[in-house]
Amino acid sequence: MVAKIIDGRQVAASIRQECRERVEVLRQRTGVVPGLAVVLVGDNPASALYVANKVRACGEVGIRSFRQELPASIDTATLLDTIQRLSADPAIHGILVQLPLPPHIDMRRVLSAIPVEKDVDGFHLYNVGGLVVGNTVFPPCTPYGVCRLLEHEGIPVEARNVVVVGASNIVGKPMALMLMQREATVSICHAKTRDLAQYTILADILVVAAGKPNLILPQMVKTGAVVIDVGINRLPNGKIAGDVDFEGVRQKASYITPVPGGVGPMTVTMLLVNTITSAERAAGLPTEGSSRNAA
Ligand code: NAD
Repeated sequence: MVAKIIDGRQVAASIRQECRERVEVLRQRTGVVPGLAVVLVGDNPASALYVANKVRACGEVGIRSFRQELPASIDTATLLDTIQRLSADPAIHGILVQLPLPPHIDMRRVLSAIPVEKDVDGFHLYNVGGLVVGNTVFPPCTPYGVCRLLEHEGIPVEARNVVVVGASNIVGKPMALMLMQREATVSICHAKTRDLAQYTILADILVVAAGKPNLILPQMVKTGAVVIDVGINRLPNGKIAGDVDFEGVRQKASYITPVPGGVGPMTVTMLLVNTITSAERAAGLPTEGSSRNAA
């Protein structure tokens, strides 16, 4: 068996086209233009690149972006003031604070200061709790993107064995909760899991988000499994690779996502979707995403 490669760029492009259409409908019906504030603290080059990508993606679909660059020396209280100002601005429907923040900043307080209705990254504790009970306002972008990829390929989740490798707050845990909500049987593995392969081999759907190149080898994967590689690793030769031995696992899986070009393009796209949904909600329009957003 040779896996079908899931083309995340193509799926993301079609969702971005839907985004453009939603923005246009919103503008015509209500005069509202969706707005996203992106807060960048310090001068981490990777963070600056992510922010630049997000700002560019907003422009491509007609979302107005508000870029806030703050020095690494800023204190928590001043950052909270900035969040409060952005929260009160009716032209802003989503607020994103690029992580990681400098270590002296109280990240939890900052994320909790973003009003739930503008928390398009889905990191506020209310939205995190919503994932547990199944009525999240804004699903976190990376796991949301994975769900949309599975949906796009017509891959059923209900009743299937799903193994999520990685248990971070932004990828692994919300991923597991969203798939459990869709009635999969979910196992979560992490760095302390003993004998990872005894779990991964049972997976009908294997989602890997550990940040370790070549963590998943062909002998760890069941024939016919769906393999979603969230990992992004820069190799010593400068190339980007995921967490899965792509060429080897491809010979066994039924579907596989490449890195780059798989989950990555979906993450920013789902941020756009969440921002538009937020603007639609603020304008009192029924949101196209609302049925899908039920985590
Ligand atoms: P993280 O470092 O916060 O968490 C990594 C998780 O993997 C932890 O739970 C850890 O216990 C687990 N882990 C580490 N080594 C392991 C091992 N040997 N076996 C099993 N589990 C192991 O990372 P994160 O923020 O969740 O990101 C994970 C990866 O996904 C990174 O490569 C990151 O760059 C990538 N990522 C990609 C996107 C995207 O859009 N494609 C978005 C976010 C993160």
